[in-house]
Amino acid sequence: MNTPNVLFVDTPIEFLKGVGPARAQILKSELDISTYGDLLEYFPYRYVDRSQTTTIRNINIDEPYVVLRGTIFDLHTVGNGKSTRLSAMLRDETGQIELVWFQGLKWIRESLKPDTEYIVMGKPNIFNGHINIAHPDIERADRDNNSNLKYIPIYSSTEKLKAKGLHTKGIAKLTEQLLRMAAGRIPETLPQNIIEKYKLPSRANAIEVIHYPTRPHDISLSVQRMKFEELFFLQLDYQYAKHSRQMRSNGYVFSIVGEHFNRFYNERLAFELTGAQKRVVKEIRADMKSGHQMNRLLQGDVGSGKTLVALLTMLIAIDNGCQTCLMAPTEILANQHYANISKMLDDLGVSVELLTGAVKTGAKRKIKQRLQNGEIDILIGTHAVIEKDVQFKNLGFVVIDEQHRFGVEQRSKLWTKSIQPPHVLVMTATPIPRTLAMTLYGDLDCSIIDELPPGRKSVKTIHSTDHQRLKVFGFIRDQIARGRQVYIVYPLIEESETMDLKDLMDGYESIAREFPLPQYQISIVHGRMDSEAKDYEMGRFKRGETQIMVSTTVIEVGVDVPNASVMIIENAERFGLSQLHQLRGRVGRGAEQSYCILMTGDKLSNTARERIKTMVDTSDGFRIAEVDLKLRGPGDLQGLQQSGILQLKLADIVNDEPIVRAARECVQTILEQDPQLEKIDNACLRLYIQKNKRALAWGKIS
Ligand code: ADP
Ligand code: MG
Repeated sequence: MNTPNVLFVDTPIEFLKGVGPARAQILKSELDISTYGDLLEYFPYRYVDRSQTTTIRNINIDEPYVVLRGTIFDLHTVGNGKSTRLSAMLRDETGQIELVWFQGLKWIRESLKPDTEYIVMGKPNIFNGHINIAHPDIERADRDNNSNLKYIPIYSSTEKLKAKGLHTKGIAKLTEQLLRMAAGRIPETLPQNIIEKYKLPSRANAIEVIHYPTRPHDISLSVQRMKFEELFFLQLDYQYAKHSRQMRSNGYVFSIVGEHFNRFYNERLAFELTGAQKRVVKEIRADMKSGHQMNRLLQGDVGSGKTLVALLTMLIAIDNGCQTCLMAPTEILANQHYANISKMLDDLGVSVELLTGAVKTGAKRKIKQRLQNGEIDILIGTHAVIEKDVQFKNLGFVVIDEQHRFGVEQRSKLWTKSIQPPHVLVMTATPIPRTLAMTLYGDLDCSIIDELPPGRKSVKTIHSTDHQRLKVFGFIRDQIARGRQVYIVYPLIEESETMDLKDLMDGYESIAREFPLPQYQISIVHGRMDSEAKDYEMGRFKRGETQIMVSTTVIEVGVDVPNASVMIIENAERFGLSQLHQLRGRVGRGAEQSYCILMTGDKLSNTARERIKTMVDTSDGFRIAEVDLKLRGPGDLQGLQQSGILQLKLADIVNDEPIVRAARECVQTILEQDPQLEKIDNACLRLYIQKNKRALAWGKIS
């Protein structure tokens, strides 16, 4: 890479002829284009094949660009002064439309010849009820024009850009001009051996072809190259951070499996671990012995036994003389973990404590004291555990439940609670599609529990509309008569919290009428209640004192009442797929057949219909996650903002899985062979790392 090249692509865009300060500013604010290089990387989103002409009658007004072939007649000027425009009619065998110009009238008027055949291209608009095209691209049909482009690139533009003359054609013009200047000045970014190995076109060539294509085959090769590059550097960010972390030999070494683990495993565990659980425990064990800090993501569907794996591995940490911490996203969950784990560990000589916002100040102080003295082996809690004044004596292992609720930043706070960074296991029951996991969690190792404990019956999922409500009530009655319990969940979306609370209360009242006291007892839980009241209601339901739990989504995560066999989701069309899946996971935990009933209105949007259908069709969390990602795109996913995924220009992690995979493997190989990027081949990568802040930030966090 020689200096002039770098300078060329880094040249401020306003120096490009035809840009200037005003356009530069708008390019920056609308498209984040501030240099030549940025403009070169602003790619068309489609192409129009100029040989594929449309007839005037078949013009689709929604098309961003049409190609017509016809003759021009009735050329005349309309209006006067400032509002003068030039109008011409274009005719083919199917009809006629108006072409208009507001600028350059004289020149255009002189150059257009009546009764001559032209190729006319542009964006159709509706004006006064007629279709017209303003400022079309126009050329004689019988002439081989200087522009020999068969494919016309279409760039997306915005209202503000268009107001400055930068519609697709305006952008194409700038790009074309820039490309002419750029010959020999677009530096390669990938190592030469990688280019050769994957048979990629050079960067300069790919960029030119994408803007200025002649054959479709070349476009796709070039696009692939640019996608590969994007995904390659995203992977490099993550994996370099991960490698640097691993190279520091600063992990606690847990070499023994001792009494706590063995007694629990042999005396307490009433069942055999599933194959997947055994495999994952082994993977974690291996990390814990390695001398490097573990950062592992544990994915598994609800009920697949992740918590048990966490507990087993926490016992290993305790056997090696360390403290452990389990952090949950809600108080209900923390309480539940605490109740379950203390019960399971009863009499094993492990001290377990609970720390949440609800713990009284005096008790809190005592817990903190004992924590510092090393008298607590397992601390379970909410984000209260990451507060500054919570200090451990020797925190060796941290488990974070339900990752999607905690940000990377919170994760990082736990590191500082110990001189040596603790091993970290992040558990999530919202499976992340593989491609996304590879990218988003490229800095974590990944374990998957892909097997449910034996004997689980899959939950029958039914879609019901409001008309069938009476039938649903009958079904609830029948299930309760069999001794089962029922959840009825209402959506809660933050912007309209009062509205939703009203929905919930109305729902509660009608349920209460339908299921009257004293025969039926109903619990209600929602976000406006304080945690004591919530716990009280949850407790009653858990103990079977109430048969129906009416709630908002606060029960979404992790709540475990095996006797509950029916989950009714009201306004199911308002929930996202992963939420629906989470909610359904609350039932099907006992031996009985369980049901999930998705209640919706009659009218559903297409995506809502697809979500409901997916739920009815499958219970595979990974499958659901893939559909979810396809329907929503990655934009909505939490934790994505800092990930770089949203900055991808061409690559699409949903549809480009093979390229994600190739890029990932490629980066892995490079870092295995040259962890410090010291080889000549990798000099450009080293330079990239030095320049790149994203990688550095991540490196610090993990
Ligand atoms: P997750 O945290 O993945 O939702 P849990 O660890 O809470 O799952 O397990 C769900 C339920 O299944 C718990 O009641 C747990 O005791 C039970 N369980 C876990 N592993 C097994 C197993 N291998 N065989 C039978 N039951 C199991
Ligand atoms: Mg769980």
